[in-house]
Amino acid sequence: MKDSHDGTSYSKMVEVYEELDSTTKRLEKTSILAKFFNEIGNEDSELLPVVTLLSLGRVFPTWSEEELGIGSKLLMKAIALVVGVKPEEVEDKQRDAGDIGRAAQELFSKKKQATLFSRKLTIKKVRSNLMKMATVSGNRAQSKKLEILRELLSSASPTEAKYITRTVIEELRVGVGEGTIRDALSQAFGVDKAIVERAHMLTNDLGLVAEVSKEEGVEGLQKLSLNPGKPVKPMLAQLSPGIETSITEMGWAFCETKYDGIRVQIHRLGDEVNVFTRRLENISNAVPEIVEYIKKDLPHKNFIVEGEIIVTRDGKPISFQYILQRVRRKYDIERMRNEVPLKLYLFDVLYYGEPLLDAPFEKRREVLESIVNITPDKIELSEQVKVTSESVQEAQDLFNNSIKGGHEGIMIKDPTAPYIPGIRGKKMLKFKAEPETLDLVVVGGTYGKGKRAHFIGSYLLAAQDEDNEFKTLAHAATGLDDKTLQELSELSEPLITSKVGRQVQIAPQIILEIAYSEIVKSPEYESGYSLRFPVVKRIRNDLSLDDIDTVDRINSMFKE
Ligand code: ATP
Repeated sequence: MKDSHDGTSYSKMVEVYEELDSTTKRLEKTSILAKFFNEIGNEDSELLPVVTLLSLGRVFPTWSEEELGIGSKLLMKAIALVVGVKPEEVEDKQRDAGDIGRAAQELFSKKKQATLFSRKLTIKKVRSNLMKMATVSGNRAQSKKLEILRELLSSASPTEAKYITRTVIEELRVGVGEGTIRDALSQAFGVDKAIVERAHMLTNDLGLVAEVSKEEGVEGLQKLSLNPGKPVKPMLAQLSPGIETSITEMGWAFCETKYDGIRVQIHRLGDEVNVFTRRLENISNAVPEIVEYIKKDLPHKNFIVEGEIIVTRDGKPISFQYILQRVRRKYDIERMRNEVPLKLYLFDVLYYGEPLLDAPFEKRREVLESIVNITPDKIELSEQVKVTSESVQEAQDLFNNSIKGGHEGIMIKDPTAPYIPGIRGKKMLKFKAEPETLDLVVVGGTYGKGKRAHFIGSYLLAAQDEDNEFKTLAHAATGLDDKTLQELSELSEPLITSKVGRQVQIAPQIILEIAYSEIVKSPEYESGYSLRFPVVKRIRNDLSLDDIDTVDRINSMFKE
């Protein structure tokens, strides 16, 4: 397979992509990848971490600060330059083909063969050009990136161009998620699935997990642990059926105010502080004051803490959407700091000189209390009461005060529970004033009529099934104010993959939180269910596709 001194050719990677794309069955995808990882592991093992990430369409782990930073406009310009057409032609082609990869493939196929394939592309070369793009900065960054991309594409075959362009915009579309990669690594290197999962959970670095699986097997994987600098997936909460029931079941509990903001995991190693979102994105640059507070009020140098960032005005929390404006921001951060000031409530500690995941929550809270210097309105600890089945009223009072104070409700936490990353278990519960909502992904829409003809007025929503396929279950048309509606329309338009009359298909990327009155059975939608009176509550930019609700959960909610 290693067919030049520069290593495996990119066409091999592309063959694997095409094979993956040709089946929807997860087991088949797993075998295809297992075979590939095994071959690479034997013949070009340095590349193993690289191809592991490339199989997911990624160049860097999600939490890396590095990003390619290529917009679709720049990409189209690069394609246009290489195939010798106008950028508008690429744009038209993309609209017809439904995605940039297929558009590039078609345009490259038409281009005279003589000028293409000037050189054979290797995986190493593709990765090195993509990495170079991420490191370019300064005032000529865009034109330098364009040049690197043009150089790369000019050696690509039509099918290679299809996947390079998709990788650049981080939409590989071969139906492979992290779960499939983990299963494939387990199969390829004969290591237990649960051990691979644990190693991934703790490092969130599939490239590293691949390398260790191959080189050191189970023993090496078991040594991988939590480390400040690399985020872990957060432990999630289930819905409490009622405050009293939950506390009685736990024996006694810690109840805390549930703040409605953005969950953050803050890592400190030496003088370096990194702030990660729930999706494990690094937002340190967007929230400089949080980094400052941490340096000042948590003077220790080796820890991971967790909390919720909220925005307050006159002491009251204000809308969640303001926080999103802050954490997504790349420019004008100093001005926004004054306009939208942030406040951090810490509620857990995962590492303090050593991993604390296995320590019971009661112990972790004790550690947290001993390491934070509280500074009102900047860093505080979550408000907490210790409640037994005899003093349930205290939890009820906390809940009432939480709602009065503009917060969401309360969390009920089992004091004996370890921290289990990525799991929605029974050891941490949430009780909210508002009924449960669903987080669903937009897969289509319908343009309005008359005055609203230039807006997508109704959105087709989907949940995911166990194979990570999207299954529709509702159309939501109401709930957003005009500004958010416009924002949503603007977000959706570049993602439109086809249009028939007023109906459009939209590439799954935008996640909406949906309130509804009832879940009902319905043959009309792919999931077999539909929602009565669905209303859009908000855009959930803080979630990733892995976080959306599942058909399985909807099924159990229906049964309940
Ligand atoms: P929701 O939409 O209800 O916030 P979610 O899907 O974002 O839910 P869950 O794990 O279900 O996340 O609910 C817990 C969330 O509540 C946490 O992710 C965190 O962001 C937030 N939260 C606010 N206050 C606390 C607290 N004191 N302890 C733990 N989590 C808290």
